[in-house]
Amino acid sequence: METKNLKVELLSLGARVSGVNKGRRGGAGPAAGGMFLFGNTVANVPTQSWFVSQSPYRVEVGNGKYVITSAGERISEVHFPSKKFEELKTKDGIPYNKISLLHGRNCLATTTIQTCMYWNTPKRCKFCAIELSLKSGATIARKKPEQLAEVALMAKKLDQVKHVTLTTGTTAAPDKGINHLAETARAIRAATGLPIHAQFEPPKEFSMIDVLYDAVDTVGIHVESFDREVLEEVALCKADIPLRQYIEAWKRCVEIFGDSQVSSYVIAGMGESDESIIEGSRMLAELGVYPFIVPLRPIPGSDMENEKPPSPDRMRYIYEEVAEILRDNGVSWSKNKAGCVRCRACSALPDFE
Ligand code: SF4
Repeated sequence: METKNLKVELLSLGARVSGVNKGRRGGAGPAAGGMFLFGNTVANVPTQSWFVSQSPYRVEVGNGKYVITSAGERISEVHFPSKKFEELKTKDGIPYNKISLLHGRNCLATTTIQTCMYWNTPKRCKFCAIELSLKSGATIARKKPEQLAEVALMAKKLDQVKHVTLTTGTTAAPDKGINHLAETARAIRAATGLPIHAQFEPPKEFSMIDVLYDAVDTVGIHVESFDREVLEEVALCKADIPLRQYIEAWKRCVEIFGDSQVSSYVIAGMGESDESIIEGSRMLAELGVYPFIVPLRPIPGSDMENEKPPSPDRMRYIYEEVAEILRDNGVSWSKNKAGCVRCRACSALPDFE
């Protein structure tokens, strides 16, 4: 099976694993997955959600090697990235893995502020699990810039990370957490020189984005869905922000950070049409923004835990269509310096370009 096709299958269907680290259980973004390296790619594969037990894909061990099988047939050898740095502790005694984790092949990822102003309100995003990992004690609420700089420096010294993803829960302040992201990014950059990506909600005042100019290399402002009805149903906080505000924020970011350095998550499988994803992605690509299209990840414990991701066939169709749009607009993951687009573990769009 072609690598990109296997990746689409695994992202939608998951894989049954035993005796392998199944990945983090909660947190922001696509949690509850394991990082699989195979072919020339990497995938953040669901390993803990209910539908995984129905997946034809399994990870088996033979002769000291891991292989992905389907109905007893060998599909591909698979490797799991080494996460040695995660076993260490900071100078103030906090385990590194409570501060940040290895994502994909070589991305250091963290949620700088693990609380979200929408979490205990009807406005929270139903697909999100940001405070679940906090509740379980797997992480700490607010990571100090110096703690992250320390972890990043060690991970770099051990040759395990090449770039950094910083995300944040939305804070009640008008900057929506951007100032803390900037402060953190500056500390990491000063200690390591690694390229850094930051993700945040579009602030009302775009001048707040400017504070990131000398702190990060790429940014993500995530619309999640171009279907406003879907947003009202699953992410009321995002539906409250007019699409125009997103568009103006993306434009401002492209001016600051450049083409293909700005991205937006677009989640497939929440009730929207293919057209909504494809046309929304066209609009993004025309602005120079990368549409990071991912299949819905129903994380155990989240409000959408009982949902099922979209089928691999649907994802393949969308990826093929959007890859062509990217080519026509000169937008590409290969130009991106840091973050989810460079990591590409959660989306197979880069593999279809
Ligand atoms: S694509 Fe982003 S969220 Fe997914 S594993 Fe990579 S850094 Fe993490």
